[in-house]
Amino acid sequence: MSTIFSKIISGEAPADIVYKDEHVTAFRDINPVAPTHILVVPNKFISTVNDLEQEDAALVGQMVLAAKKLAAEEGIAEQGYRLIINCNRDGGQVVFHLHLHLIGGRPLGPMVRRLKTD
Ligand code: 5GP
Repeated sequence: MSTIFSKIISGEAPADIVYKDEHVTAFRDINPVAPTHILVVPNKFISTVNDLEQEDAALVGQMVLAAKKLAAEEGIAEQGYRLIINCNRDGGQVVFHLHLHLIGGRPLGPMVRRLKTD
């Protein structure tokens, strides 16, 4: 199933691409939540984390290593950043082509709002 990300990877749709190699394509999120918000996307179509197979292990590693490299290039490696993969409805996934969010450039606060405990 094709998504907008497949079209960005193939060059059919425009995006601010910041990195591309044989494994992954990375581009700036169209609706950023922080000064740095980059999506790292496998060139191979995989819908969600649930669809990953053992043979994709190296590809997932390539995604994380690309994010690490981009964090350094963005100048946010030292102060820190967050890597997020959303999965399906409760995870908040909207685009069903696997992607890693690289987010940083400001303090990001707690990871997820805590369940009310009082
Ligand atoms: P998800 O919620 O699926 O993890 O995140 C999807 C992300 O893709 C969102 O942050 C959204 O802003 C971004 N996005 C959706 N459509 C486009 C697009 O056409 N171009 C770019 N660059 N980002 C997009």
